[in-house]
Amino acid sequence: MNLAQIVADIAAEMAAEADRGRVADYIPALARVDPAHFGIAVVTHEGAVHEAGHSETPFSIQSVSKVFALTLALDRIGPPLWKRVGREPSGSAFNSIIQLESERGIPRNPFINAGAIVVSDALLAGHDARETIGDLLRFVRFLAEDEGVEIDGEVAHSEAATGFRNIALGNYMKSFGNLENAVEEACKVYFHQCALSMSCRQLAMAGRFLMNDGLQPGSGARITTPERTRRINALMLTCGHYDGSGEFAFRVGIPGKSGVGGGILGVVPGKASIAVWSPGLNERGNSKLGSLALERLAERTGWSVFTP
Ligand code: GLN
Repeated sequence: MNLAQIVADIAAEMAAEADRGRVADYIPALARVDPAHFGIAVVTHEGAVHEAGHSETPFSIQSVSKVFALTLALDRIGPPLWKRVGREPSGSAFNSIIQLESERGIPRNPFINAGAIVVSDALLAGHDARETIGDLLRFVRFLAEDEGVEIDGEVAHSEAATGFRNIALGNYMKSFGNLENAVEEACKVYFHQCALSMSCRQLAMAGRFLMNDGLQPGSGARITTPERTRRINALMLTCGHYDGSGEFAFRVGIPGKSGVGGGILGVVPGKASIAVWSPGLNERGNSKLGSLALERLAERTGWSVFTP
């Protein structure tokens, strides 16, 4: 298999696609991103990096950050987190509030917005939002082995200025006693993590521990346990694309986490960490060409986790 060629071919095919989906437009910083962008970076288990397209251009990773926040929260508070957030796919939109009523303020999973706000709250653990945001940024820089990872201040500000639904989710969960800190603090952490700005290369580097049983290749640092790594990957496969998770598993067959910035982190245990980026989204808010690129990559490499 010539992986470099496969990656280059996919980038060329995606550049030629006419139907690129719709760029998120709820904040100006996302609305002005050029839909013509496409980037891909694949880091293999052996440490080779294959990139093509706009793989070095930073973009807003948005909900992909939920994977890193969850990893850090599990490391800090461990299994008690699962009393406050579930592990079932929601079948609903990423920002839905509906299930919170019958399920008494316990979100279905940590990757829908409500679940991620609970994770942010758990990360706060009585500290100030600024400190927690700093911890998360340091953690992601460490994972990517790149000090160039930043939080985009304009995006963070717009997320907060337009985040009425997220604040509502926070308040609703607070009313059930499922937030320990002030709603404003938990949401502040959440808005800043959504504003993490990373390139495909940085994102694929940051995801390496997930293909490697929780160990960072190279440094050998233990990021999380093998058991948690398997579970985070399981959640990515079942919940990483919201109400499009079944379709993504059906078409691509690898654990993946998407964000409305058009990025997707894909994990092939024992084989590769992959990041793709194309800002146009499908009707479920997942990258249209990012999903197609991963589908072709899985097909040509045999990397679906269901391929024996
Ligand atoms: N900032 C977005 C929100 O909270 C993130 C959602 C996403 O990436 N799916 O609505």
